[in-house]
Formats: sequence, C-alpha cells, structure tokens
Amino acid sequence: MAILVLGGAGYIGSHTVYELIDAGREVVIADNLETGHIEAVHPKAKFYQGDIRDRAFIDSVFDNEPIDGVIHFAANSLVGESMVDPLKYYDNNLCGTKVLLESMVAHNIGKIVFSSTAATYGEPERVPILETDRTKPTNCYGETKLSMEKMFQWTSAAHGLRFVSLRYFNACGAHVSGKIGEAHSPETHLIPLILQVPNGQREKISIFGDDYDTKDGTCIRDYIHVTDLAQAHILAMDYLMAGGENNIFNLGNGVGFTVKEVIDTARKVTGHPIPAETVPRRAGDPAQLIASSDKARSVLGWNPQHADLEEIISTAWNWHKNHPNGFAK
Ligand code: UDP
Repeated sequence: MAILVLGGAGYIGSHTVYELIDAGREVVIADNLETGHIEAVHPKAKFYQGDIRDRAFIDSVFDNEPIDGVIHFAANSLVGESMVDPLKYYDNNLCGTKVLLESMVAHNIGKIVFSSTAATYGEPERVPILETDRTKPTNCYGETKLSMEKMFQWTSAAHGLRFVSLRYFNACGAHVSGKIGEAHSPETHLIPLILQVPNGQREKISIFGDDYDTKDGTCIRDYIHVTDLAQAHILAMDYLMAGGENNIFNLGNGVGFTVKEVIDTARKVTGHPIPAETVPRRAGDPAQLIASSDKARSVLGWNPQHADLEEIISTAWNWHKNHPNGFAK
C-alpha cells in the first residue's frame, strides 16, 4: 500500500517524502509543479504531474495506485499574495480540496493528513496557543485553510472519512543531507531572505515594524524545523491507520523568537554582519504566534529533534549557500 503525497515537490511536502522513504514507506507524489520543483522529488517516489482541481487526473491516480492514505500539501501559501489575489486561494485551496474529497469519497479512500496553519488563529487571545483557542484569520490564506478544515469535518460526518489537520507555525530549515531545502519564487519568508544577505543577493534585511508590544518591538514567531514537521505527518498517518479519530494539532517548538533575535542568530551562524533596517509593519502580521504543541506530543508522540534556532538556521544556511538560486542551475 502507498501514501499519496499531494504537493510532494514543494518545500514541506518534499521533506515529508524524504522521511517517509527513509521510514520504508511506499510513496506516490502528485504535484502540478506550479510552485514545486521536479528536482525536489525523491528518486524512489513515483511521480505524477497534475492538478488536484482536475478530477480526471486525481481519479486516474487513485485508479492506478494502491493508495491507503493521503497527505495533502497542494495549496498556495503566501499570506501577502492571498490578500491581493484572494480568489486564487479560494480556487486552488478550496476548489482543489473539494475535487480531491469527491474523488477520495468515490474511491473509498478514508484517511487524510493535511497542512493547516497558525494563520487560522489570526491575532491570538493568548500565547501559547491551544488548538481549542479562537480561530479568526486576519488574512485570506488562513481563511481558506480554516474553511478546508471545516470541509473535512462535514465530509467526515457525511462519508466517514477521517482526517488530521496539522497547524504549522513557522516552517524553516533544510534537510540535513543538503539535497533539498526552501526555494520559493518570489521569496517572502524571513530566514531565507536574511540568508540572501551573506549570500550576496541582498544588501540588507528589512524588519517589518519595531513598534509591536514585544520585548524588542519586533514580531515573535515559533520557528519549527521542516524535518520535525515532516515527522509529524508520518505520526499523524500512523495515528489514522491505527483507527485514530479526526483531530487537529499545533506544530511548533513552543518558544518564540523576535525578528531581531532571528537576525542575530543568523549573524552568528554565517559570521556576516547582515545589516538590517526597520520599515513599516506588514499588513496582517499578528504580534506574536507561539504554539502549544503538548497535544501533538502526548497524542501522536511527536518529539521535535531540531528545536535549537542556531541548528535550524545552520541547516538553512547549508542549503542556501550551496543553492543560491534554489533548484535552478
Ligand atoms: N519579516 C520581516 N522581514 C522580512 C520578512 C518577514 O521582518 O523581510 C517578519 C514578518 O513580519 C514576521 C516574521 O518575520 O513577523 C516571519 O515572517 P514570515 O513571512 O517568514 O512568516 P509568517 O509568520 O508570515 O508566516
């Protein structure tokens, strides 16, 4: 039996495939390569290029492969883009998931682990955030992910499918082998943007606001290594395979770092002064997002192995300095 990884050529998807294959699982990938990279596809995974909005395509994968469960990463995930092009997010994230679920129900495939996000919470009422806390997204990306969670809930109630939703905090870092890492175009995430400075691709890093109500005025985030996220997907799929009920888990280290602290750590890791300048706040950014992941630890047995920020940034630096243009030659 195989696991179907939708979006397995993307950042978190490709790292999850590497962990699945290391764990001896059979993996089938489907990815439209809109934001994913063929070079990130593990050579031992079977690959199909296609779009989850294409019912005939997704049906053909389920018809031809012995799929036991689905891990679903296939979505657009940029907060800023979702604010200027919300319908793109409704189309890919929601319409895509609708078509996927129709096909899963028709093929009697009843287990799905899916990428959700801390953006479902919006501005938190308190930190660390629990899964039961208020969800009130401040951007369209988070809104579509929350709607996807609800789509799974109603589909589950009607058709018996079971799901696990994993709400990631700030995914970062790269595979220890140095073979795969983060490669977005355009890049919008803090750590890869910081590392463009020592890589000679950017003169300085912009700090989006230093007037937040935090210890140094800059936003606080919970940075979690992509390989630790990947492990959580395997544990979540095993939980469903063992008969586990629908569930939602936060995935973070439970420790927050300010933007300035992240820049300082990158200075230490790279030995580069990394000049920084403060610019106005970015729309839609909550002041702080820190996860309580106690539930993932106790129910799934999740135990992040790369919690140290210096280690996280070192793996990212190892990737970016050797692949300054991502997967492009
Ligand atoms: N950030 C920043 N400068 C940048 C990019 C990001 O100050 O060039 C800040 C951003 O405002 C947020 C944090 O870094 O507080 C993490 O942003 P990122 O886009 O990496 O992840 P997000 O928290 O939006 O998912």
